[in-house]
Amino acid sequence: MTIGVLALQGDFAEHIQILAHVGVRAVEVRLPRDMANIDALIIPGGESTTIGKLSVAFGLMAPLCQFASEKPVWGTCAGAIFLAKESTGHDQPMLQVMDIVVQRNAFGRQVDSFETDLDIPAVKTPENQHPVHAVFIRAPLIERVGKDVEVLASLPDGRIVAARQGHLLATSFHPELTGDDRFHRYFIRMAAGLT
Ligand code: GLN
Repeated sequence: MTIGVLALQGDFAEHIQILAHVGVRAVEVRLPRDMANIDALIIPGGESTTIGKLSVAFGLMAPLCQFASEKPVWGTCAGAIFLAKESTGHDQPMLQVMDIVVQRNAFGRQVDSFETDLDIPAVKTPENQHPVHAVFIRAPLIERVGKDVEVLASLPDGRIVAARQGHLLATSFHPELTGDDRFHRYFIRMAAGLT
């Protein structure tokens, strides 16, 4: 399996590093032709407006939409915003392929970034039942999910921070910034049709 990582802006290098650690081939995607031989795609955290504008500039919007309509795609933080059908109060280029409504910067400014432990049954393994340490950096909230969307993780107050719709995965936080590779392994199982 080869996983593409959208490498226009943001923390794509961290995703590639974890994929290498897990033993999956990763390629950087910057142009439509880079998507020719990938089985799944990760859209990293960063700045969703920048990722959107660069995707328009590099002619990636239509190829990405087409890819996401049938193949596995995971967006972390800005990547989750880019996948969403709507971002409340913001007009920016988005793929709009996933039936979630997000609120950008829902927790406030950079100084309001935080880390917390979340219980996420979907990604637990027999060897590792521990909570996931989740890093939120000017993170979005998943405000609403459509009927075909499964909620994978919420904060203690019930606000949604991870969701899946079939072959699409969205997390408000950054599994690529911790040493914990369970989310990447979950996405790889998802991409292989094993979960
Ligand atoms: N605040 C960024 C945005 O709205 C997302 C931040 C991140 O990816 N860590 O696009």
